Amino acid sequence: MPELPDLFYIRNYLRTHVRDQSISSAEVKNPIVLRVAVEGTFEELMRNQSIQDCHVHGPFLRLECSGKIDLVMNLMLAGKLQHQQQHEKTVGHLCFSLLLKDGSRLNLCDEQKMAKAYVVRQGEYAAIPKYREKGVDIMSSGFTLPAFIELAGRHTRKQVRVFLNDHTILSSIGNAYADEILFDAQIHPKTFVSKLTQQQIERLHQSILSVMKWGIEQVNTASQPIHIKVRDHMKVRNKKDQPCPRCGTKIRREGVRGYDVFFCPKCQSPTRKSFIDWNPA
Ligand SMILES: [Zn+2]
Repeated sequence: MPELPDLFYIRNYLRTHVRDQSISSAEVKNPIVLRVAVEGTFEELMRNQSIQDCHVHGPFLRLECSGKIDLVMNLMLAGKLQHQQQHEKTVGHLCFSLLLKDGSRLNLCDEQKMAKAYVVRQGEYAAIPKYREKGVDIMSSGFTLPAFIELAGRHTRKQVRVFLNDHTILSSIGNAYADEILFDAQIHPKTFVSKLTQQQIERLHQSILSVMKWGIEQVNTASQPIHIKVRDHMKVRNKKDQPCPRCGTKIRREGVRGYDVFFCPKCQSPTRKSFIDWNPA
């Protein structure tokens, strides 16, 4: 699943390479991903539009088109957006393709066919499930420590990993960065929000900001094609049995509410009362 750093990278790429280009034609290979909330077919609606801008909204990418129409995409688990040059192959099961004036294509590929692409009138997003339930934007100036403390206070019964992952609370943190954030903050993923100390909450807020910033920098530096998910910089995610970069203990994988979670059992110990020395000598 693309996460915020991936989506920002895709957004910036599209702004640089695709913005202001018109769409010569649209081709649908697998209509299962499409939801058209405007009268007309996808092919008719997209033809001759030009892509004016791209935005990130929670897990969604929103492409603003010239005819007051938006193409809103949620790539879900395995969906990939590909900017395909004429000599290149598609990167998987092709769902639809937009042929651009310069001869390149913007493709949505998804082996699992779980991705969704909505065609809606600009500003009319009611037809898109979960679009309007977006939580606090963690990249905005509104994501302050007092705002975070207030959110935590409203969700004390949740496990911290579940709390971080809930897009209706925080917009948005996926599985990979949630693991990295908790590792950075040295908090066990199953800790209940109610059990976090004030200092842990402060540290968690800092970790969200710093880990996402780091992720954005890492994905930018890697500078890969937009269909590639850059994960090489991860410290604990998918690192089961590898040494913790902080203490050398083997990274553990466990399930939290059906999701795989990776953490260091020593740095993120559940047994210690507090990770912070309250009474330094
Ligand atoms: Zn460790």
